[in-house]
Amino acid sequence: MSCFLLPKNFCSDLEQLMAKFWWGQHGDRRKIHWMRWGKLGLPKSEGGLGFISLYAFNLAMLAKQGWRLLHNPDSLISKLLKARYFPHSSLLDAVPGSKPSFVWSSILSAMKVITRGSRWRVGNGSDIKVWGDRWLPRPTSFEVVTPPVVGLEELKVNSLICEAGQPQWIMPLLTSLFLPLDVDEILRVPLSLRSPPDCLIWHFDRKGKFSVKSAYRVALTLSTDPDPPSSSISGMAQLWKWVWNAKLPEKIKLCTWRGIHDILPTCCALSKRRVSLPHLGCCVCGGAKESTLHILRNCLFAQAVWHLLPGLLSSDRHADLPLPDWLLVSWSELNSNALALSMVVMWALWSNRNDVTWRSTQRQPHDLVQFVLQYMEEFRCANDQPTGSHASLGASCWSWPHSGTIKINFDGAFRTGSTGGGGGVGVLGLSLGTKMGDFWQPLRSVCYLLVLRNMLSAWRLMRLYGFGGRWGGGGRRSGLRLTCSIISRMFSLPR
Ligand SMILES: [Zn+2]
Repeated sequence: MSCFLLPKNFCSDLEQLMAKFWWGQHGDRRKIHWMRWGKLGLPKSEGGLGFISLYAFNLAMLAKQGWRLLHNPDSLISKLLKARYFPHSSLLDAVPGSKPSFVWSSILSAMKVITRGSRWRVGNGSDIKVWGDRWLPRPTSFEVVTPPVVGLEELKVNSLICEAGQPQWIMPLLTSLFLPLDVDEILRVPLSLRSPPDCLIWHFDRKGKFSVKSAYRVALTLSTDPDPPSSSISGMAQLWKWVWNAKLPEKIKLCTWRGIHDILPTCCALSKRRVSLPHLGCCVCGGAKESTLHILRNCLFAQAVWHLLPGLLSSDRHADLPLPDWLLVSWSELNSNALALSMVVMWALWSNRNDVTWRSTQRQPHDLVQFVLQYMEEFRCANDQPTGSHASLGASCWSWPHSGTIKINFDGAFRTGSTGGGGGVGVLGLSLGTKMGDFWQPLRSVCYLLVLRNMLSAWRLMRLYGFGGRWGGGGRRSGLRLTCSIISRMFSLPR
């Protein structure tokens, strides 16, 4: 892709295959493509998923070759191409000529990317044309807007500079040739005492250096039409920032992304795409038409869930707003944890709708809330970085068991970035005067499962040593105290 321009149709065919894979199409089974590929290719900050456009990326790679030819005129390939295709002009003005090679025509097709992304840094001004070249510090166009003067179309910038002593612009000439707004822009161009050669710089880099990444952005604007904004509120960038920066699994972010775009497969959305359905009513509450907004906010079930979680999103406030605007207004009042929790709730509401539709199983609102809180706790436990050593934490909390009692410690841990983990159970009984035994078992699971498994081992040990099986509270000989906050909260046990 860095030497040859792939045919546009070939790139489109490849992107079609990628789109089919993304939307889950296998073989000849037809699947709905809920969003066109061009929109999916937008950056995440603009509502897309950042999928690459092969044609634009191909142009950016070729532009890199063109940029190298421009800045390395003494290289062998530069000399060869210049001698063959543009002996009397510069690369920027070169034309295909007769019988151009595939490589040459490919590089030439990417020159429009270089033209759009570059501008001249004025040195002595001898290489820059006043009209037609991009040399003014005016964003986007960088060109003179005054119409060219007849007979002076090929005028170079050095004709406007007085080099006697300190270089400076010739004011009488500027005012006679240009409109006042161009004169102001020209006067903003700094002139160097050393009068170095003019230099073509990349506008999208502070140091003027070319990068394929920024060239891809330029090529994308050249090859696609800009989409209109998807919301009436000019804060969609902030909304997408909240969604993608949330510390949550990607499936939950994607669910929110689809909800905001209104491309969840609800009855209304399916009906718009001409899928025949027996009815459009909500299968959860049996009420109004099932739309994204209904499932996530207006449904009686959703309202009951939001009421059980005060301080998150309110289904009563701003109830007349569409979903993106409702989220934008509501999320602006939440901190990052509450915002993430509200995204999990929306994902759980959508999952509940799918359970009702496809499995005929209906949860109660408080069950769903309990599931969401447990899910968040579990996710945080698995992802939070440890803040201190295990030993130091244990030293501050752990105490010797009372006489006549037995203490069983258990815990689990895993290594970030791998599936490996370990854990174990330690038993200590003062009644025997020594440690009764301990053992450690390497396990391969996540932290939560490790703790649970070790808890069961502790339970078996208690039975083995003849102690009662009641958790906490009871007689001194039957007390098994938990130090794990997750398990304690799950089973409402004392710690
Ligand atoms: Zn409903």
